[in-house]
Amino acid sequence: MPSVRVTLWNEYVHERTNPDVARIYPEGIHSALKEALLRHGNVEVRTATLAEPEHGLTEEVLRQTDVLTWWGHAAHDDVRDDIIARVHARVLEGMGLIVLHSGHWSKLFKRVMGTSCALCWREAGERERVWVVDPGHPIANGVDHCIELEQSEMYGEPFGIPTPDDIVFISWFQGGEVFRGGCTWRRGSGRVFYFSPGHESYPIYHNPQIQRVIANAVQWAAPQGRAANTPRNTPVESALEPIIARGPSVHDAHGTLTR
Ligand code: ZN
Repeated sequence: MPSVRVTLWNEYVHERTNPDVARIYPEGIHSALKEALLRHGNVEVRTATLAEPEHGLTEEVLRQTDVLTWWGHAAHDDVRDDIIARVHARVLEGMGLIVLHSGHWSKLFKRVMGTSCALCWREAGERERVWVVDPGHPIANGVDHCIELEQSEMYGEPFGIPTPDDIVFISWFQGGEVFRGGCTWRRGSGRVFYFSPGHESYPIYHNPQIQRVIANAVQWAAPQGRAANTPRNTPVESALEPIIARGPSVHDAHGTLTR
């Protein structure tokens, strides 16, 4: 199996501005995730952050990316719209996308989903249990019945997402809420996974089971086939069976629309 080329995108703000977050992720969330993915193997990993030119997501970088992960929280509005459009186009072409935690509110996720992506939340350091509800799904491979996080931020329903293709995880919170925290969709030829755990005040991305889920998701989200993004006219004479054009037409012989 060829290794999956991963780009880990992180806005990289709170790790540099909030001492509590900096203690947990001194080199940034992206660096912690990079180490974890490399331990799991079958990946080539690069990172990209908001402050880099073009947020580190040049045409060239995206062309060489099989799967992009996205973590953002404090600076969603600082992400350039033209870069979001570029990333979205790559997803439709087949690049996998893994959106993490507060990335649910990113311009990218809202654009890819086409819905509000709103939820309810509470930052109280309460316990979360991330229940595996689809144990046969490759993203849940090797995960126990549930992942217990002693401290987490509550994300609760209703979650303003389109109905997922697969719900792999549902979270329970100590305060009583539940949340569809691990969901998949296809957009164009691209596979999309949203995974909710990962609030930056708690060491959630150091949890081996959480790391395993993200590593599994990277392999699952790798491009599967061709993009369906190239318009193609197939004129009468090149139809696979002989046919005769009948009736009026608004196209010329080359398939170009006439006015
Ligand atoms: Zn959070």
